[in-house]
Amino acid sequence: MKKNDIILIAIAVLILMPLILLFLNSKNGDKALVKSDGRTIDVLDLSVDGTYRYENKYGFNIVEVKDKNVRVIDADCPGHDCINKGFIKRNNESVICLPHHFEVIISSDNEEYDVVVQ
Ligand SMILES: [Zn+2]
Repeated sequence: MKKNDIILIAIAVLILMPLILLFLNSKNGDKALVKSDGRTIDVLDLSVDGTYRYENKYGFNIVEVKDKNVRVIDADCPGHDCINKGFIKRNNESVICLPHHFEVIISSDNEEYDVVVQ
């Protein structure tokens, strides 16, 4: 193998790696972790539609699960960045409400299984 070939392979791997990681992260999750002050306070099943209210010392956030999507529909934080974020559904996507130390993160139970299937 020539030196140039090795360099080409190295470049190809470097280019493909982010795409592979992006692909693995871009599939839909099946649950949402709800975090308050860094602690996981709830796990939502995305296959069950519903509206959930969470309150901590900073304020409240109302989270809606609908058609395997999650969003914050109401909160009393300044700016409403969490509400403006809209729906999330991809694995590792998150809605963060900084003023409330509140976060919703999409996750998946069976990542390895899904990768094999795809
Ligand atoms: Zn907010």
